[in-house]
Amino acid sequence: ARSGGTIEVAGLVVTYGSATALDHVTLSVRAGEMVALLGPNGAGKSTLANTLSGIVTPASGTARTGGRLAHIPEGRQLFPDLSVEDNLVLGGWRSRARDPSSVYDLLPRLAELRRRRAGVLSGGEQQMVAFGRALMSRPDVLVVDELSLGLAPMVTRDLAAHLVALNRERGLTVLLIEQNARLAFGVCERAYVLEAGRVVAEGPCAELAANPQVARAYLGGP
Ligand code: ATP
Repeated sequence: ARSGGTIEVAGLVVTYGSATALDHVTLSVRAGEMVALLGPNGAGKSTLANTLSGIVTPASGTARTGGRLAHIPEGRQLFPDLSVEDNLVLGGWRSRARDPSSVYDLLPRLAELRRRRAGVLSGGEQQMVAFGRALMSRPDVLVVDELSLGLAPMVTRDLAAHLVALNRERGLTVLLIEQNARLAFGVCERAYVLEAGRVVAEGPCAELAANPQVARAYLGGP
């Protein structure tokens, strides 16, 4: 990962037929920041990620990244019948990166698993493959959609620690999309809260955690 990636989303509107998934969303992530995007099911979080990566076309507004973007999609989306190594190599096709050795250096567990079929791995191992696949393109910005989905807390913490290390040591800019606010607040400096397609709160994680409405909705507070 090189440093310098940014995300700029301004007045973003995305519709599916007559339904509005994102309603004038504005957010930004500066170079080297690690920022969380929280929100309940259906809030529009994945739609935002998919718009950033060009899978979804906005009705109006903009969603831009400065630098190379990689996206770990919700549900990982691996090729289950291919080996771990082939999944990694496919992740590098756009940047013509075929050699996974730098990814194995960062995530040595993947080197041990490289001949295994992705489909037989545990959820945590599969998420690590998705993570490694995203790193194959040497991104400046990483959008992670639901890192913790379906994973045991210890596995999630281990993956989050890798993410933090990449952010601190290499300046990788991260947008962490999470329903698990405790995890997000533990590793990010700032957060945005998305509900029904709108940003309803934003700020430093410490401030958001002290906001009674946010605490009640996302931290199981009183
Ligand atoms: P989740 O965590 O459940 O994925 P989310 O916050 O990521 O939730 P999105 O998946 O972005 O939310 O969905 C936002 C809204 O858009 C929801 O009402 C969803 O039903 C709708 N939606 C998402 N994708 C499509 C699609 N391809 N066609 C029609 N509606 C869609």
